[in-house]
Amino acid sequence: MREVIKKLQPYVPEKPLEILKDELGLKKLVRLSANENPYGTSPKVKKAVIDWTYEQSNRYPDGNASELRQLIAKRFSLDPKQIVFSVGLDEMIAMLSRVFLEPGDEELISTPTFSEYALNAEIEEASIKKVPVLNNGGIDFSGMLEAVNSKTKLIWLCNPNNPTGTYETTADIEKFIQQVPNKLVLIDEAYIDFVDQEKPSTMELTKKYPNVVVMRTFSKVYGLANFRIGYSVFAKQIAEQMQKVRLPYNVNSIAQVAAKAAFEDQNFVDQVVQKNSEQRISLERFFNRLEIKYYQSQANFIFFKYPEAEKLANYLLQNGYLLRTELKKDWLRLTIGTKEDNQEIQKLIENYGRE
Ligand SMILES: *Cc1c(COP(=O)(O)O)cnc(C)c1O
Repeated sequence: MREVIKKLQPYVPEKPLEILKDELGLKKLVRLSANENPYGTSPKVKKAVIDWTYEQSNRYPDGNASELRQLIAKRFSLDPKQIVFSVGLDEMIAMLSRVFLEPGDEELISTPTFSEYALNAEIEEASIKKVPVLNNGGIDFSGMLEAVNSKTKLIWLCNPNNPTGTYETTADIEKFIQQVPNKLVLIDEAYIDFVDQEKPSTMELTKKYPNVVVMRTFSKVYGLANFRIGYSVFAKQIAEQMQKVRLPYNVNSIAQVAAKAAFEDQNFVDQVVQKNSEQRISLERFFNRLEIKYYQSQANFIFFKYPEAEKLANYLLQNGYLLRTELKKDWLRLTIGTKEDNQEIQKLIENYGRE
């Protein structure tokens, strides 16, 4: 076995909610730790999945995801050949690392950020250069520029960033891209639909700059985390190279059918985004009132600071709410839930502070 594998710390996935609930002996448990969609998914997805012809079970899926590819290409005015599909963005991150990183190469990340970029770099025996975020949680673009060198192969920009929730404008990203014309810049837009501060237009950048990759998933705003489907948009010549590494039938038919139905129901997406924005504002007001420090979020979660955060997290867990811990000392990441859960969480945090 490769030595590097023995030394790895694996990504620890969330336990199934029912199992965790039983383990802790809780009557109620709401998961606000995985940035899942609290509003479920479009009812049109349910219909599409039920209507899927079971008789195709013995056939391999469409390895090109042709219909979904056409829909996405049309929506963003892309060449369909620019798109590569994956089993969630998780698989895309693994594929990108496999294609672009060799032992001794470097990748650049802004920290804290999604842990899988670094994990996959380690698997490829590449080293990871970390540039801490600014005081407001935003990306330190000039620090990133300074950190680029001849060994740098990949630059990850998670936008909005997980876990800080902070958003960088398309203009700022474009400025950065122009300064690193020979480096591949990967823009992970898992949460992009939740942005209401501007209408992001990074898809346009994939037509203008061959070094830009835009990554999207159906797991978050579309509520399809269980189906495992995502995609990235590349310059055509890079997409062709990625296709060589992709497993031929990586995305199954039910996932394709579900994603198509979800993608076409923009109405559902708009409603989710609207409700999320309202609850985000409510949480910001709450944190402001209690003078709890948090980063300005444009996503469906908020990262906030609390003294001995682990203890607060444990108190919330005993009261039925699971938050994400261990991302940064004394900080917690709270997925923005429904209005009811949001009000309950606020009450609990306020009461905890009084104890
Ligand atoms: C959730 C998440 C992903 C992974 O999503 P998939 O379910 O694998 O598509 C990718 N990037 C970030 C930043 C995420 O938070």
